[in-house]
This record gives sequence, structure tokens and C-alpha cells, in this order.
Amino acid sequence: MTEFTMTIDGSAATPEAYFDVVDPATARVLAQAPDCTPRQLDAAMAAAAGAQPAWSRDERGRRHALNEAAAVIEAHAGRLAALVTAEQGKPLAQARDEVMASAVWLRHYAQMELPHEIVQDDDEGYAEIVARPLGVVAAIAPWNFPVVLAVWKIAPALLAGNTVVLKPSPYTPLATLHLGELLRTCLPAGVLNVISGRDPLGASMTAHPVPRKISFTGSTATGRRVAVAAAGDLKRVTLELGGNDPAIVLPDAEPEEFAASLVRSAFVNSGQVCFAVKRIYVPAERHDAWVQALTVHAAALRVGAGHDDQVEMGPLSNRAQLDRVTALVDDARARGALVATGGAPLAGEGYFYAPTVLAGAADGMPVVDEEQFGPVLPVVAYRNPGDAVAAANASAYGLTASVWSPDTDRAAGLARSLDCGQVSLNAHGAGVRPDLPFGGSKASGIGRENGRWGLEEFTQLQVFTRPPKA
Ligand code: NAD
Repeated sequence: MTEFTMTIDGSAATPEAYFDVVDPATARVLAQAPDCTPRQLDAAMAAAAGAQPAWSRDERGRRHALNEAAAVIEAHAGRLAALVTAEQGKPLAQARDEVMASAVWLRHYAQMELPHEIVQDDDEGYAEIVARPLGVVAAIAPWNFPVVLAVWKIAPALLAGNTVVLKPSPYTPLATLHLGELLRTCLPAGVLNVISGRDPLGASMTAHPVPRKISFTGSTATGRRVAVAAAGDLKRVTLELGGNDPAIVLPDAEPEEFAASLVRSAFVNSGQVCFAVKRIYVPAERHDAWVQALTVHAAALRVGAGHDDQVEMGPLSNRAQLDRVTALVDDARARGALVATGGAPLAGEGYFYAPTVLAGAADGMPVVDEEQFGPVLPVVAYRNPGDAVAAANASAYGLTASVWSPDTDRAAGLARSLDCGQVSLNAHGAGVRPDLPFGGSKASGIGRENGRWGLEEFTQLQVFTRPPKA
């Protein structure tokens, strides 16, 4: 078995304990990851704090290091992608896309200007606003996109002059640990520390006195705990949490035109995407036509282990997620929804669930009201588009949404009344890019990642004034 090491103060930390990492395609132990001890957590925090002042003074060095990190990731994309597939389950091509996207994000931030404004420079005086780093950032990542979602935090945090202690999910620590190993060559010691451990390690990070900021991506339930823990000493938080993202198809939208794209947006990464389509609202008179078109595309998805290059959809990432999706679909069936395709785990080893379309689903069913985070698409009929918008907005979540129609002017009117962080027409998640802010309203989180807005979350403003020059 390959040895994976934590990176603390630029070096491999000697493991004192381990935990198992399971391959979701086989349900068998794939590797062991180091289980960070309290002493090692303190060492990582101390290393980050020690490295931060010099790092914050070297803007040129930071930009250079981010570009170098991008190049290192590209050079090792094959190995990183193979690790993502092995520990998370997604098809290898998608794992590679995730890894390559990380390099794009690093380069994007490497050239981004830091917020800075001269408000006054005249006979009366001089006033300038600069964005200073916060200090040490604790970055906590989920298991669905382990590498790129970590880089969404690392890139802006480092550019702004912070140093980072990063913790991946215990389900998917391997690619992130390897990333830490690779980046030892291009980042000064202590600037990026990568530690791994079970969930309590996340709680210890949020309670730790050193970090001034928690950047968290994960479930809403854990996000609430992070907010409570951060409140004690008023750490800043960015919380990227769950979504229950609606797609609303208007009466003039043709199933043949849009069904393939909707199915891709619902089933990519086995539906384990915070901004995946998780419920679709269709006009009641076209419900059956939509179910049929969606079913054709969902049933055609090739499901299997991610390292097989014919495969389009891998397993669910872990046993708990498989059990949750199974229970939600069984419950929907008991409440009267009809399984148009799928509806059960696949026989054999691993955490596979058949791509599932549920006809006759309704608001009030947990499979519609909650974030399923699995390959399940409930189809809900509406009487008029305004009802669909009201149902979409009634959710506790507000991450992304989409409206589908050939009449984009009409669709835009409806789209603008949706309460969420991003809304797209005739596509879903089209605004998830390095230059646009990503994040949600309500229970989907606090703050934004990406673009200059994501950078600002890792800074604090300082006003500098002086008398006019003589
Ligand atoms: P999770 O909340 O179970 O875990 C996320 C991370 O938090 C893990 O690293 C975990 O170890 C850590 N953690 C657990 N308990 C903690 C605690 N008390 N304090 C601090 N950290 C703790 O989430 P998950 O199951 O890994 O991820 C799936 C969820 O993430 C879904 O709800 C999904 O929608 C959400 N997500 C959101 C976004 C977004 O950008 N909005 C992106 C991806 C995933």
C-alpha cells in the first residue's frame, strides 16, 4: 500500500495513528490515512502562524507560487485523478477534469488584483483602503469534489497573504494528502499544511485559538456547528453548504431539446454535486412526456467503477449516502411517487444506485424537500409557472436554480424571482466559474467563493490616512 503523509511545516509528519479509506466501487479498504493527533494539529497551526508574516509581505512570491502550484498539479494530474476516482468513485475523465480545473483556479487567482483603493489624494490629505490578510485560515472540505473545492479555498486564501491548514473529508483524504506532498516543492514551509482525520478533527480546527477564519464546505448541519464554534472567539466564516436546486421547465420547452442536458446536470457525479438539479418542475399537461424523455437519458447512463473508461456514472461515495438515497426513494414510493427508471441499489459489490427518475413526485415528500445528494430526479407537476417559482422558493435552501424555455426573455422574468445564489437559463450551474461568485442564500450558506468576492472573504480592510504631502 502507498504511504500518504500529512504536510506540516513543509515536511511529512510521522503518522502516529491511521484510519481506513474505502473504495466505494468495491466497499473494500483501499488505503490508510494518517489520523492527526492533537499535538500534530497544534504543530500545523503553529507552522501556519509562523509562516504567515513573511508570506504576507511577498506578493510577487505568492503569485509565482500559485502559478507553480498550477503547473505541478497539471504535471501530476494523472496520479491525482486516479486517487480521486479510487477514493471518491467518479469516472476517471471527470476526476481529471476536476484536477485540471484546480490548476485553472490557481492561475486565475495568481493574476487577480488585490483590493486596493485610493479614496483621496489632494491638498486636504490622503486616504487609502487596503485589503490585509486575516492570518491563518482553517479550510475544511467535503468528499464530493475533494481537490477542486480545496483549491477554491487555498488559491484566494494564499493570494491574499494568509497561510492555511487544510483538512479533507475522512472519506476522501488521499488526493488531498498527495496534493500537499506535491506542493511542498513550490510553497514555503508552513504556508500550506494538510492534515487528515475523522470528523472530530474538523471540530478541533474550528475551536482552535490560532485560525482567524474558517472556510468550510459541507452539509448544512455541520455548517451550523462550525458557525457556533467560530462564534466563541469571532472567527470569520465562509460556509458553502447544501442545496436543493430546482429546474423549472416552462410550458413551451420541448423535452427532446432539453432532457439530455437536464439529466447530465442531475446525475453528474452520481448527483453528489451541491448545485446538481435535485428536483424538476414540469407543466402538469406535459408531465408524462417529460418523464419519458428524462427516463430515456437516465436509463442510458453507463454505471460502473470509475476507472473503466466506458463508465459515465460511478458509485455513491460512501455507505451512509447509499443508505440515505435508498431510504428517500423507498419513502417516495410509499407516498405514491412512481419509479420510472431505477429505484434500487445495484446488485453486487460497491455503493452503486441505479439512475432514478421519479414520476408524480410532490412537494412535501422528503425526496423533493431535502437534498438527496444521489442519482435521483423527482419530477413535480405544476399548474402554472408562478406556482413552480413559489415551490422553488419555499425551500430552506437557495444555492442555484435554472429555468428552461426557448423564450429566454419570458424565462428571465421568472428566473429573476428565484431566491438563490446563481440562476441560469437553459443550462444548470453555468455560472460556476473562477470569475463569478458562488454561494447560496438561506440554509445554503454564508459568504461567497470564487472571483474577487471569494478573495475578499480572505481579507480585512484597513484604512490608511496621512496628511497631504508638503
Ligand atoms: P459534512 O458536513 O459531513 O463534512 C464536511 C467536512 O466537515 C468534512 O471534512 C468533515 O470531516 C468535516 N466535519 C465534520 N464534522 C465537523 C465539525 N463538527 N466541525 C468542523 N468540521 C466538521 O459534508 P459532506 O457530507 O462531506 O459533504 C456533502 C455536503 O456538502 C452536501 O450537503 C453538499 O451539498 C455540500 N457541498 C456544498 C458545496 C457548496 O459549495 N455549497 C460544495 C460541495 C458540497
